[in-house]
Amino acid sequence: MPKNLIVGAGISGAVLANLIAEKSDEKVVVIDRRKELAGNIYDYKDKETGITVHKYGPHIFHTNNKEVWDFLSKFTEWHFFFLKPNAVFEGNICTIPFNLTTLYEVFSESMAQKIEEKLIKNYGYGKKVPILELKENKDEDLKFLAQYVYENMFKNYTTKQWGLKPEEIDPSVTARVPVYISHDNRYFQDKYQGIPMHGYTEMIKNMLNHKNITVKMNTDYKDISEKYDRVFYSGAIDEYFDYKYGELPYRSLKFDVQTINKEYYQKAVVTNYPNNYDFTRITEHKYFLDEKSDKTIISVEYPEKFELGKNERYYPISNPENQALYNKYKTEADSTKGLYFIGRLGDYKYYNMDLAVEKVFKFYNEELKK
Ligand code: FAD
Ligand code: UDP
Repeated sequence: MPKNLIVGAGISGAVLANLIAEKSDEKVVVIDRRKELAGNIYDYKDKETGITVHKYGPHIFHTNNKEVWDFLSKFTEWHFFFLKPNAVFEGNICTIPFNLTTLYEVFSESMAQKIEEKLIKNYGYGKKVPILELKENKDEDLKFLAQYVYENMFKNYTTKQWGLKPEEIDPSVTARVPVYISHDNRYFQDKYQGIPMHGYTEMIKNMLNHKNITVKMNTDYKDISEKYDRVFYSGAIDEYFDYKYGELPYRSLKFDVQTINKEYYQKAVVTNYPNNYDFTRITEHKYFLDEKSDKTIISVEYPEKFELGKNERYYPISNPENQALYNKYKTEADSTKGLYFIGRLGDYKYYNMDLAVEKVFKFYNEELKK
């Protein structure tokens, strides 16, 4: 039986550990250098208020993949939840992503009607149009709309978030938040959406609770002396190779978590501030699980540059140059027997949770399934 080591107890590492333990009936050791399970989906119940806090930013699970949903549902019940965030701009609160509801919130009725008709005629009701694509439209009114949304909702937010203009980042990033030709005010339209009823950490704990799995926290890979036949590494690939080709860039975040002495702070779980302030958004955590308290907890999210040893890696920065650097590490990894990279940091990809799980399924089926 091969000796298996998984580095990282985030969702990628935990799913793989469960598959190896359950389906292959092999023993597996999972290590993580943090003291808490679950990687960046770690959440905890605040002692004073009983509110569940998403330590590394707001996490809403959403997927169209039934296999992923059914798998996770073995380890948690769900609190059904649809993200309906809003944004403050020009001093008003409006619906995001920009949709037909937003049109009527920001323009006069006649103007909104005219643009609505043109959007439906050009693209069709229900279509999601990336802002960079809408900007290419030749129609004067649609061009005006594209410019308006771009200026008010994308340009400054993206500059704050990435330190770059929308054109300078991979188009798949801004396409995550398209102009949505619909009155459906949900941020995501996936078939399955929710928050684990007892938290993400509990879900991961249940996934790792298996007779074949041993978990060791506060344990860094670099301090491991024991030899393993197979190492599955969900940490950063450049760190594994001691940055020999250079550092892969990341965007980091700082969360200012505050307990506020009133029942609710804002109207929605997430409020974006595209234009003002240095922060991008404020999350009010009690909304996730509809928890009651006369106090509330918010986190104010400040994007910042990732600096080794100073803060955490949050977002890979996708562009051809960084991809080329990643490929150098990947080529080296592929020629090292028994070494595999998985997850957001191992693959250097902007994965949502469902895609992270899907990728691990694929990896297990292609590489490990007997
Ligand atoms: P991670 O969670 O990063 O886990 C990697 C683990 O490896 C960490 O615990 C780390 O400590 C450990 N590790 C690294 N190096 C070592 C080492 N040398 N030794 C030991 N341990 C090591 N997705 C959604 O689907 N919905 C959302 O709403 C959503 N919101 C997000 C909001 C923010 C602000 C961010 C940044 C991401 C969001 N995501 C969301 C994405 C989600 O966080 C990721 O898909 C998920 O966390 C990826 O899990 P992972 O296991 O691949 O990586
Ligand atoms: N974005 C924006 N304005 C917004 C929301 C998002 O410009 O109000 C852009 C920004 O570049 C951001 C990207 O769209 O990084 C993806 O946003 P998403 O909400 O998916 O970000 P995440 O939740 O992953 O941080």
